[in-house]
Amino acid sequence: MTETASSKSAGPTWIVIRNIGLLLSGDLERPILDADTVVAVDGRITSVGREKDVDTGSATTIIDARGTALSPGLIDSHVHPVAGDWTPRQNQLGWIDSYLHGGITTMISAGEVHTPGRPKDVVGLKAMAIFAQRTFSAFRPGGVRIHAGAPVIEHGMVEEDFKELAAATIHTGGPSIPGSSLIDKDIVLAADADVIGHINGGHTALPDDQIVSLCESSSRALEIVHNGNERAGLLTLRTAKELKQLDRVILGTDSPAGSGVQPLGILRMIAMLSSLGDLPAEIVICFATGNSAKIRKLDCGLIATGRPATFVMLDKAQHSAGKTMLDSIQRGDLPGIGMVIIDGVVSTQRSRNTPPATMVPEVVTR
Ligand SMILES: [Zn+2]
Repeated sequence: MTETASSKSAGPTWIVIRNIGLLLSGDLERPILDADTVVAVDGRITSVGREKDVDTGSATTIIDARGTALSPGLIDSHVHPVAGDWTPRQNQLGWIDSYLHGGITTMISAGEVHTPGRPKDVVGLKAMAIFAQRTFSAFRPGGVRIHAGAPVIEHGMVEEDFKELAAATIHTGGPSIPGSSLIDKDIVLAADADVIGHINGGHTALPDDQIVSLCESSSRALEIVHNGNERAGLLTLRTAKELKQLDRVILGTDSPAGSGVQPLGILRMIAMLSSLGDLPAEIVICFATGNSAKIRKLDCGLIATGRPATFVMLDKAQHSAGKTMLDSIQRGDLPGIGMVIIDGVVSTQRSRNTPPATMVPEVVTR
């Protein structure tokens, strides 16, 4: 396990990624960019364009993408971390590092609910949320950035408590952990939280009419999770599409959970929603990049000047029937990851978890 990939280097770094076959922007308005080269200095993108048009002169690291695709690093909008790279839910070490091998570079905690002996009193739960925020901001397994410290709301909390803590998402659907209770559409609409957390349920979903009504009556983000009801996830997607509000759709795994640790959960959601939801893969990839970043107010998730140089490089999996990587995803296949770069630093090369990518990028000079 490596800690803080970005702290390894000293002095300015200048990274050039050339020969990119497909540049995915993360922006729903313009998901594919006409460019083959990305340049970043000290972890921030400085130019995106055709190689002949950009200044690649002072590169300290040159990466030949070898015709593969480059996308913003994926954001898992709904995780339940506890402490460091350990989850007690499935008693597993190194789960965050495993998600990195699924292209995840940013995680949003929906509450550290699996903490053994989790305090239920107001002082205790606030202390726990602050502890999680502080520890995860100082510890980044494999370079993955974890935004933690979502308070687990209990009776007895008052307005002042929420002012101290930034209130995060609210869960919908049936209980996802024993002791949590059903939250129906009326409660969700009254709370009017920024994100309608796992609208497709944490195992059990709301009735279809309530899901459609939430999509129609609220303007908030629609979070579809891997560990929810897949049919309800597709219903949400179709409703958002009919409303012409795909910019509200974001993706999370809602893991670790009873159904496991899912390093490829976001890639599986992308393939499922693109294939069964009949949407171009480049659009669905925006749900897990630019959409999440915009709704969570993060500066990652987009390929544009000034944004973090945080990328996942992908190609069609070996032996996929798809003609191209996007076509393979639209057929329901997972792509292969060849490299992950976080804040301008190569964090992993060929993924140990995805199917093998047909082509993988190569570090030419460093
Ligand atoms: Zn959850």
